[in-house]
Amino acid sequence: MHACIIAVGSELLTPFRVDTNSLAITERLNTIGYAVRLKTIVGDTVDELAQVVSSALVWADLIVLTGGLGPTEDDVTRDAVARVLQVPLEEDRAVVERIRARFVRRGMTMPDINRRQAMVPRGATLLDNANGTAPGLWIEHGRTAIVLLPGPPREMTSMLDAVIAERLAPRSGGAGLFRRVMKITGRTESDVDQQAQPIYGAWTSRAIPISTTILAMLGQIELHLTARAESRASADAALDAAVVELRTALGDAVYSVDGRPLEAVVGELLRARHATIAVAESCTGGLLASRLTDVPGSSDYVERGAVCYSNRAKTEWLGVTEALLARHGAVSEQVAEAMAAGIRSRAGVTVGVGVTGIAGPGGGTAEKPVGTVAIAVQTDDDARVRTFQFTGGREMVKFQASQAALNLVRLLLR
Ligand code: AMP
Ligand code: MG
Repeated sequence: MHACIIAVGSELLTPFRVDTNSLAITERLNTIGYAVRLKTIVGDTVDELAQVVSSALVWADLIVLTGGLGPTEDDVTRDAVARVLQVPLEEDRAVVERIRARFVRRGMTMPDINRRQAMVPRGATLLDNANGTAPGLWIEHGRTAIVLLPGPPREMTSMLDAVIAERLAPRSGGAGLFRRVMKITGRTESDVDQQAQPIYGAWTSRAIPISTTILAMLGQIELHLTARAESRASADAALDAAVVELRTALGDAVYSVDGRPLEAVVGELLRARHATIAVAESCTGGLLASRLTDVPGSSDYVERGAVCYSNRAKTEWLGVTEALLARHGAVSEQVAEAMAAGIRSRAGVTVGVGVTGIAGPGGGTAEKPVGTVAIAVQTDDDARVRTFQFTGGREMVKFQASQAALNLVRLLLR
C-alpha cells in the first residue's frame, strides 16, 4: 500500500517553520502497512497544489493532505482537490451551524469567512474535528483514498487517529510495518556496515521480510530495521531475533536497541550499580553534565559537574598541578586523568570524568590539531583514558566529545 503525504502551507517553505506533521503521519501510516513513497510541501497556491494532487492520484493508494483548511483566502486545499476531481464545492449547512455554535460557546459571533470551512467537495465525507473549526474530509476516488486534515498538529493527529481506526486499518487487515532502532557508537559507518550487511542482507527474503537502513549521525550510527508482517506479534518475534543476530555480531558497540539515548543507558548502568558520578569538563563546557541531567531522575546519581575552562580553574577546583599542566599541556591524557581523579575525590563519587580538548576553530597545533580531545574515566578499581581526534566545527567537536565520554563511562560500568 503506497501513500503520499502533501503538507500545504507557504510558511513551510520559509526558513521559519518546519513540516513536522508528515513525520507523525508517516509513523501512524506505517503501523497499518502503508509505505510512504513520496512526501512534498506545497505553498498556498491552488494551481501547484492541484498539479501535485493529480500526479499522486496516478499511483497512490492513499493521499494525505495536511494544512490549508482554514477560513482565509489562502486556504486552498479544498479548492485544489475539488478541481482535480472535477466536482463542485457545496456549502454544508450543518457544518456552518456547527462552526457557528462553536463561536457562540466562546461568546463570539462567527465571521462570515468561516463559511469557507463548510465548503465540501461533492461526494466527500466529513471528519469531525474535536479541537478546532475546520472539519476534515475523506474522499474515495477509484482505488485512491484522499484524506484532508487541518494543519495544527493537535487537530491533525487526533483526526488522523480516528481515520486510521475507523477507515484505514480495516482496509489493511491488521498488517503493518514495524520498526526497531539499534544505536551504535564508537565505530565508523563503513566499519559497521561491512560487518552488518552480510547479516541483514539476507533478511529481505525471509517469511517476514525485514529491510534495514543504516544512518550515520554525529557521534552515532543507527540501524533501522523494518518488518512487514500480518500482526504486531509476528513482527516482534522476527525483529527480536534480528536484533539478537546483529547485536551478537556488533558486540559492545551497540548501546541501545529500544531507542533510548546514550545518556539514559549510562544513567541506568549507574543506577543499577548504586553508583554516583561527577564530571570535570573543559572543552565541552558543561554539555556532558547537561546531557546526563537530561534524564528524568538523574539526581539519583549525578553528584556535580564543574566547568574548568582555564588552567587556574583546573588547579583551584580539581588540584591539577601547574607542573603537570606545564609539562604535558592542558590537552593531554595526563591532565584528563588528573581532572577525573580531582573531581572524583572532591565529590566523593564512584565515577569521575575529565574532558579536555581543542574545540576550535583556533588553538590547534601540528601536534594537537583542532578536534583533539583527551577523556579520562575513573572508578575505585578501574580507569580508562583515550585521546580522540574529532572532525567538524566547534559544536560538532563538543557533541562528539560528550558522546565519547558517555561511551567510556558505559564501557567501564558494563
Ligand atoms: P493551516 O491548517 O494551514 O491553517 O495551518 C495552521 C497552522 O498549523 C500553521 O500556522 C502551522 O503552525 C501549523 N501547521 C500547518 N502545517 C503544518 C505541518 N505540516 N507541520 C507542522 N505544523 C503545521
Ligand atoms: Mg496554512
